[in-house]
Amino acid sequence: MAEVESAGDFRSVVLLAGGVGGARIAEGFARALPEGALTVIANVGDDEEFYGLRVCPDIDTLLYTLSDRINRRQGWGVADDTVKALDVLRDLGAPAWMKLGDADFGLHIWRSWRLAEGDSLSEITVEAAKRFDTRTNIVPATDDRLRTKLNTDEGWMDFQPWFVGKRCGPKVSELRYEGADAARPSAQAMAAIGAAELIVFAPSNPLLSIEPMLAVAGLRDAVAQTPAPCVGVSPLIGGKAVKGPLARLMQDLGLEATSRAVAGRYAGLLDGFVVDAGDTEDAEALRKAGLSVASMDILMGGPEGAERLAREVLEFAAGLVPSRERRSA
Ligand code: GDP
Ligand code: CA
Repeated sequence: MAEVESAGDFRSVVLLAGGVGGARIAEGFARALPEGALTVIANVGDDEEFYGLRVCPDIDTLLYTLSDRINRRQGWGVADDTVKALDVLRDLGAPAWMKLGDADFGLHIWRSWRLAEGDSLSEITVEAAKRFDTRTNIVPATDDRLRTKLNTDEGWMDFQPWFVGKRCGPKVSELRYEGADAARPSAQAMAAIGAAELIVFAPSNPLLSIEPMLAVAGLRDAVAQTPAPCVGVSPLIGGKAVKGPLARLMQDLGLEATSRAVAGRYAGLLDGFVVDAGDTEDAEALRKAGLSVASMDILMGGPEGAERLAREVLEFAAGLVPSRERRSA
């Protein structure tokens, strides 16, 4: 592995990512790094079957964002997509609460067809990333079944019925990553971590996007043991999520909705953490705990903002020495 001395030297960066927040910073890294240098390891805990089709919302958001097909206003789905197929399904009496667009259905049909032919989700995802010309490797954390389940005041729920069907309404008391114990990391994810000069934890939802992947023991161990620096970026600014239910979910689960609490979820895995310039108390608390902390504007806005943040994260990472906190954990 070549010595990384400055931000421009990184040739293999791994990003652990969920959907919207993960895809936004992935686009920034894809713009900041040489072509092919970025591998995104994607959460599959949100995956679900609809009408016999396999839908992978986080992988799909990554594919659409990195191929510039994304509906930028929403942050998910294909730009200018229509919902004729969904309208037909509704007319036929099928449940139609999951917002699947017509172009979107094409990807789900292709993926499900290939799975039925015996190809792995990894092979399919890598090929989709190539054919969509993302100039980035996208690999699922695991090819095995992994499903985030939520215990709520309405009982145990699958992820999508809670997230989309009920708009995160039911109060959550417990999370479970079903299948994680038996799941093995995908070979592509392990190879990418093995070759990585830097691992970045995207500003994704720790509880719903990153921890399902880390619940796969082999993947967690590989991240814990890599000599490459590991850096996280907070998804919270001033204790608020830029988008989505993270702050409320943390409160529901008895956690503080702060950047330091997010970093705490990754205890033993991080050498450095990036918080918003305004979150000085978080920065101080984390530094006291022995972590290297960088403070900067972590709101991305659009692709240019994402590229700016990615470059600043690379700069920070290039100057990091592996922390004692992580090595002793
Ligand atoms: P999901 O799977 O679609 O929910 O997406 P992720 O888990 O990857 O990302 C969700 C998180 O992204 C939310 O908690 C947001 O706060 C965070 N996020 C979205 N945009 C930004 C941004 O511009 N900056 C930062 N720091 N976080 C962001
Ligand atoms: Ca997700």
